Formats: sequence, structure tokens, C-alpha cells
Amino acid sequence: MDLEMRDRWLNRAQDRVAGAGLRAGAARSAVIELLAREGQCLLIVAELTQMLRSQPVGSAASVYRAVDELFELGLLHRLDGRDGVARYEIADPEHHHHHLVDEGTGDVVAFADQEFERAIHALAERLDVELTGHDVVLRGRRRS
Ligand SMILES: [Zn+2]
Repeated sequence: MDLEMRDRWLNRAQDRVAGAGLRAGAARSAVIELLAREGQCLLIVAELTQMLRSQPVGSAASVYRAVDELFELGLLHRLDGRDGVARYEIADPEHHHHHLVDEGTGDVVAFADQEFERAIHALAERLDVELTGHDVVLRGRRRS
């Protein structure tokens, strides 16, 4: 876990939630705390509810609702798997990575690549676009 990323995201999340006028509910607070630590790469909501089982957060529905709200506030990235299950991770403008979906096993592997980032920024230049973000998912079969 990246501690700086955790703290940066916690601060942003708390600011944005307060700015949206949402009250500090137990479920939302617990989900935010947990996502900051465990949501640095893709997680499914069922894993979150499992990890929160010992905490008084109410129903699984309240966990799903909290995740939806955080997503709507731009605090989470979502990857919709071909298995129909949405996976989430915290959105951090200062750190990002992409994902490779192994179509042989269904595994999702995170990767970061400077050359790839440079290529995307060069493409944005050529398209005359001021880039505000990008999401890339590679699909394939790992050879090794
Ligand atoms: Zn990830």
C-alpha cells in the first residue's frame, strides 16, 4: 500500500463528500477508510462488504450505495468486467496505472509504463485535445 496515495485520496474524498453536502454516515466513512487502504487497485464491492463485516455499517446495500456515491463524485475508477462484475479503485490524479485483462484466466494485472504515457500525451497533442484523463484496458493472453 502507498501511504502517500492513501492520505492524498482520503483528504480529497473527505473534501468532496463534504462539498457535496453529504452527511458523514457510518457506512460511507467506513467505505472511504477501507478504499483508501485496500482500493489502490481493483476491488469488487463484495470484497469490501466482506472486509467490513465486523464493522457497524448497516446492510450490504449501504456499502453499494456509498461506492456509487463516491464514483459519482469522481473519486473512483470503475472497470466493468466481461463477467458482469464492476471493479473499483481510487482515482488519484498523481498516480495511475492501467490494466491488462488476461483473457485466458480472467486475471486483471496492473501495469504502468512511461513510454505508453508519453505516447498518449503525444497523441492528445496531435488530436489537439487538452487531456483530462485516460482509461486504457488491454486484453490478451499472457505468453509467460
Ligand atoms: Zn488498478
